[in-house]
Amino acid sequence: MEEVGVGLGVGPGDAVYSSWLEVSASHLRHNVAAFRALESAGPTPRALGAVLKGNAYGHGLAQVLPLVHAGVDVLYFIAPQDALTVRAHESAHGLPARQVVVLGAVAPEEAVVLAREGIDVVVADRSWADAVPSLRAAKLARPLRVHVHIDTGLGREGFTLDQLPRETRFLADALDVFEPVGVLSHFANTEDVTEQAYALAQLDAFETALGHLTAQLKPAKPLQRHIAASAAALVLPRARYEAARVGISLYGLWPSPETRLSARLVLGELPVLKPVLSWRCGSQVVKWLPAGAYVGYGCTYRCPEPTRIAVLPVGYYDGYPRLASGKAHVLVNGRRCAVLGRVMMNHLMVDVTRATSDERPVTATLLGRDGEESVSAESLAGWAQTIHYELVTRLGAHLRRVVVE
Ligand SMILES: *Cc1c(COP(=O)(O)O)cnc(C)c1O
Repeated sequence: MEEVGVGLGVGPGDAVYSSWLEVSASHLRHNVAAFRALESAGPTPRALGAVLKGNAYGHGLAQVLPLVHAGVDVLYFIAPQDALTVRAHESAHGLPARQVVVLGAVAPEEAVVLAREGIDVVVADRSWADAVPSLRAAKLARPLRVHVHIDTGLGREGFTLDQLPRETRFLADALDVFEPVGVLSHFANTEDVTEQAYALAQLDAFETALGHLTAQLKPAKPLQRHIAASAAALVLPRARYEAARVGISLYGLWPSPETRLSARLVLGELPVLKPVLSWRCGSQVVKWLPAGAYVGYGCTYRCPEPTRIAVLPVGYYDGYPRLASGKAHVLVNGRRCAVLGRVMMNHLMVDVTRATSDERPVTATLLGRDGEESVSAESLAGWAQTIHYELVTRLGAHLRRVVVE
């Protein structure tokens, strides 16, 4: 972090009056161990992969990477630039190189850099043929390690069964620069159901595609198969294969209530997942408003009685959803405090009449535990008519993130 003047940071999240995120190292370790136990339950130990896309689901890549690097086998990203931070971290700390996979789109010039760094890519469409000249011109010491993405029913990236093996022929013709090491797919509907018929059809398609690819590419070693994200890793044992790509649940969040229900049925006992993230904010001012006073833009809230409010310097710019206006609460001194009126860009007002006894500053918990109460990412997302995935990944990149035990 840059510093100016008397040791003050210069970024928008460096203000003293700014909310901050706490990333719990022990909860993250706990969740890694919970998935490690699941993955080693079968006859063959499987690789555990951590998905660190979306700034590590908003938790902060810089904070999360050092915490998970030693505990997992594979690190998955969307952006090549994020994947490269792993190699920088490893060389800065003298750590062994982990398997790193870029799931997202890669331009030819990026492919060359990734090949040199020994980072795996995912070939999901024919545009990869355009990278062949650059890769050949780069005279690589080792070919680029590639995983082939099969679209088994999500309708997103990947080769459909109809496109195989015609559309992957260019790979077979460029084995001097491509080394096929894996095959993957992604489920469309494992989270939202307790009944997995669609996922099972996707698994059948996956296995058919694997047969085509193996015949066509004749890989030196069996391809590493990976299809399970958090939900399937928890509730669909057939989807485990050689590696799991665990995102949301590594951060201690269940993909959905349905997944939790299914896990109870499939596993017998529910694994304990511990939310890694808390979000807190000191008050800017605490003051009384008289009965009849309005609060916030649009005068949507009017105090029915004298009300002690805390003005919090946090708003939708930071990722606190405006749609949660009039529904959300925060925690102050272990008590629920309603958010009054509209959430603003950089402010929200909460009712602390009963949560405190004077006008001294308070600390509010926007997400996480305070005493006996907690606000989950699911609750805040629900108040805002969205899902916890969106809520956490939209937490401002500018916010201060502190690792706590
Ligand atoms: C995001 C993503 C995952 C992780 O999903 P979670 O539900 O967060 O575990 C796995 N694989 C792919 C391809 C993804 O895009």
